[in-house]
Amino acid sequence: MGQIKISNVQKTFGDTQALKSISLHVEPGEFTVLLGPSGCGKTTLLRIVAGLEFMTAGQIILGDKDISDLPIQKRNIAMVFQNYAIFPHMTVYENIAFGLKMKKFSQDIISRRVDEAMELMHIEQLSKRLSSQLSGGQRQRVAVARALAMKPEVLLMDEPLSNLDALLRLEMRAELKSLLDGTNTTTLYVTHDQTEAMSLADRIAIMYQGEIVQYAQASEIYHEPASTFVGSFIGNPPMNILPLAAMVNDTNIVKPIAALFKKSKDSRLKKHDLASLTLGLRAEDMPSTNKPAINSWKLKAMVVEPLGSHLHITTKIGNSLLRVIAENDSKIKSGSDIFVCPSSPRWFDKQGQLISCG
Ligand code: ATP
Repeated sequence: MGQIKISNVQKTFGDTQALKSISLHVEPGEFTVLLGPSGCGKTTLLRIVAGLEFMTAGQIILGDKDISDLPIQKRNIAMVFQNYAIFPHMTVYENIAFGLKMKKFSQDIISRRVDEAMELMHIEQLSKRLSSQLSGGQRQRVAVARALAMKPEVLLMDEPLSNLDALLRLEMRAELKSLLDGTNTTTLYVTHDQTEAMSLADRIAIMYQGEIVQYAQASEIYHEPASTFVGSFIGNPPMNILPLAAMVNDTNIVKPIAALFKKSKDSRLKKHDLASLTLGLRAEDMPSTNKPAINSWKLKAMVVEPLGSHLHITTKIGNSLLRVIAENDSKIKSGSDIFVCPSSPRWFDKQGQLISCG
C-alpha cells in the first residue's frame, strides 16, 4: 500500500528536457520532499505522478499497480496546490465534500469523512463559513482536509505553504508534520525552501537540472553532500567551496589544508593529488578568533553580522569568499585580523563529486 516507484521517467517540452531520467522509490507512509532550484523539474515530476501531465518515457508504480497510463481519476492520489484551488462560493464543508461527491460516495460516508477531516485539521467551527471568508492559513487547512478526506494512498503537495506569512508558515509546517504522522499517508512534497524540506522530510530528493542528484535523510544530505552543488544549496550560510588548484602555491593558505589532507585515513582520498581537489567547509566547523592558533589562516574580517547567538563573518581566502563564525564576545569587528581553523573537511573531485568526509 502507498509505495511509489518512479523508474526512468523522462519528460521533454519541445526542446526543453525537463526531466532527464528520474528514478525514485518512496516507501509506504514516507514523507519525501522534492527540493531544488527554480526550473529543476519538481512540479513537472509531481504533475506526472498525479496524472496531470504525460511522461515522455518511464514507469510509475503505485503499490503494486502500474499507473503510468491511468487517467487521473483512476489513481488513488490527492493533490494540494500552491493556490489551494478552493472554491470561494462554497462553504468549507462543501469544499471538503466536493471530491467525495464526484466519486459518488454515499451521503453517510461523505458526512463521516468530512467530519473526520475537519476534526483532524481543527476546522470544525468553520464548517459553514464560505471559503472566500477564510484566512490563508485556514484555506490551507481546508485544502489539506479536502485531500485527506479522499483517503488517498498518496498525497502530493506543491508548495502548499508558500502563500503564508513567515510566522504562520512556521506554525503550519509543524502542524502539517504532526497531522500527517498520524495518517500513514505516503507524501510527495515540492518546495524550494530548504528549511521547510529539512524539517518536514523523512527523506529529501535534491533535484538539479532535471535529475535527482541525492536522495537521503536531511542529516546525511547536510553532512555528506553528494556534490559541491548539494553542499552549496543546503545550509545557511551555504558550504564554503574552495577549488584548491588556485591555492596550492600559496604556502600560507595550503598549510592548514595539507594538514587536514595528511590527517585523513580515507584511502579513496590518497589516490588524488591535492591540487585536483575541491574542499568543502561549513561555517560552523570553522570557529574563528582574534588569537593566532596552530594550522590556522590569518585573514581579514570583511563583514561581521551579529546573529544573536553568534557572529557570522565573511572573509576572503585567495580569490574565494569564506564564511565563518565567531563567539559574540570575540571582539571581532569589520577590518579586524581573524584566525580561522578549518575542520571537518569534505573533499570533492574535479567533477565536484564527493570523495570523502574527514
Ligand atoms: P519552480 O520552483 O520555479 O516552480 P520547478 O522545479 O517546479 O520550478 P518545473 O515547473 O517542473 O520546475 O519546470 C521544469 C522545466 O520545464 C523548466 O525549464 C520549465 O521552463 C519547463 N516547463 C515546465 N512546464 C512547461 C510547459 N508546459 N511547456 C514548456 N516548458 C515547460
